[in-house]
Amino acid sequence: MSEKTIAAIATPLGEGSLAVIRISGGEAIKIADKIFYPFSEKKLCELNDYQAAYGEIKDNEKVLDDGVALIFKAPKSYTGEDVVEISLHGGRLMAKSVLRLILSMGAVLAAPGEFTKRAFLNGKTDLTKAESIMGLISAKSESELRLSRSAHIGKLSEKIEEIEKELLAAAASIAAFSDYPEEDIEGLDAENFEKMLINAENSLKNMLSCYDKGRIICEGIDTAIVGKPNVGKSTLMNMLSGYERSIVTDVAGTTRDIVEDTVTVGDIVLRLADTAGIHNTEDEVEKIGVQRANSRIDTAGLILAVFDCSKPLDEDDFALIERVKKLNTIAIINKSDLQRDINLEAFKDMRIVKTSAKMGEGYEELSREIAELTGIANLDPDSAVLMGERQRACAQRALDGVSAALEALLCGCTMDAVGVCVDDAISALFELTGKRVTNEVTDEIFRRFCVGK
Ligand code: GDP
Repeated sequence: MSEKTIAAIATPLGEGSLAVIRISGGEAIKIADKIFYPFSEKKLCELNDYQAAYGEIKDNEKVLDDGVALIFKAPKSYTGEDVVEISLHGGRLMAKSVLRLILSMGAVLAAPGEFTKRAFLNGKTDLTKAESIMGLISAKSESELRLSRSAHIGKLSEKIEEIEKELLAAAASIAAFSDYPEEDIEGLDAENFEKMLINAENSLKNMLSCYDKGRIICEGIDTAIVGKPNVGKSTLMNMLSGYERSIVTDVAGTTRDIVEDTVTVGDIVLRLADTAGIHNTEDEVEKIGVQRANSRIDTAGLILAVFDCSKPLDEDDFALIERVKKLNTIAIINKSDLQRDINLEAFKDMRIVKTSAKMGEGYEELSREIAELTGIANLDPDSAVLMGERQRACAQRALDGVSAALEALLCGCTMDAVGVCVDDAISALFELTGKRVTNEVTDEIFRRFCVGK
C-alpha cells in the first residue's frame, strides 16, 4: 500500500450539476473528516463501508458548499485503499477550492492515472482491464465502447489466461521430462505436447489477426478523398461531416490545399482529408496541392476516389484509377442524380459506391462498404480484442516464443531448448496482463491516463 494519500477532481472541469472529488489512501477518511461535516453529526470515520453522509464542506468556520461523502473502506474500493468520494455542486471554482482545501489537510495531488495504478498495484485490476478504461472514457463510436467494455469486464484477460494455462501445462511437462527423462510420464509424449503448442499458436494468431481491426475501431483510419477538380470531393466531405466544412463552388480547383476533419461513418472514425483535385495543371499553387494529394494517397489507410458519373472518364480519371486500384480504395461514383455518362467497366476490379453527395444519398452504402473493406463488418466487438501497440507487441512476442518452441520440437532439439522458448512466451503473456511487469512499463502505461482516473 502506498503511504501517501492522493486526491483529485474525478469529473471534467467545467460547469455541471455535480463535481466529484476522490481521495484515496490510508489517511483518506481522516482528511475528509477535517473538511466534511455530516448533518447527522456522526464523523465519517464512524460510518460503515459504502455508507454516504450528507453534510457541509467547511474551511474552518467558512462553509464552502454542501454535498455528499461516500465511504469505501480498504480493500473494497476502486484502488483497494480507503477511498472517500465527495460529490459537490459542479463548477470549476467550487471543485478547485475544495480540492485545494483537501490538499492543505495533507493529501497530495494525484498524478495522471494514479488511482488506477494503485488499483493495479493492489491487485484490484489487471493491465488489460486498466488500459480499457481509457477506451471507455474516450470512445468515439459504439464499437469502440463495446470493445473497451469487453476488455474491461475481463474477456481479453480470460482469453490470455486460457493460452497461459496451456503453456504453463506444457512448461510443467517439460520440467518433469527434464527431471526424469527415463520415466514414462503419462500425457507427456511429443504428439500431446505439439498439440498444446499448436492450440496456443492458433489462439495467438487469431488474436493478432483481429488487432488491426480493433486498432481501426479505436484509432480511426486516415482517409484521403481524391479525384479530379469538380467531381464533388468537398461536397462528399460535407455530406460525411454533416456540415459545410470545405468550400463548394463550381470553379474547378477551389480546394487548393488539404481540408481535414474527423467524422464517424457507421462505426468507424475517419480522419478525412479533402485534397486538391488531382489533374495535370500548370498553376504553381495548384501543383503543390496536387503533390500533397498524391502523398496523402501513399499514407492513407483508406482512399475514397471520387468520379463524376455525368461525364465520360478522361485521362486524369484513368490515371487515378491506375494509381489507386490496388490500394484500399472505394471508387465513389458521384452525381448519381444526374444523367449517367460514365463507363463503369473501368472499375470492374474495384469496390464502387454510387452517391449523390449533393442530395446526401449513398451514405449507408458507403458506410457498409467501408466496414467490409476494413474487415470491421465481421469483427465481434464483444470478443477479446488486443488494444494498443503494447498489448500487440506482447502477444507477438508470445507467438514468436510458441512458434520457436514448435520448431525446436519438430527439429528434435532437447526438451530444455523447447522449454526456454515456452518460458519466453509465458513471460510475454505475463507482461501483457501485468502479472510480471517492470515499473517502467507500468509508469508509462498510467502516465497516459487523465488526472482523477
Ligand atoms: P470538388 O472540386 O471535387 O471538391 O467538387 P465540389 O464538391 O466543390 O463540387 C463541384 C460542383 O459539383 C458543385 O457545384 C457541387 O454542388 C456539385 N456537386 C457535387 N456533388 C454533386 C452531386 O452529387 N450531384 C450534383 N448534381 N452536383 C454535385
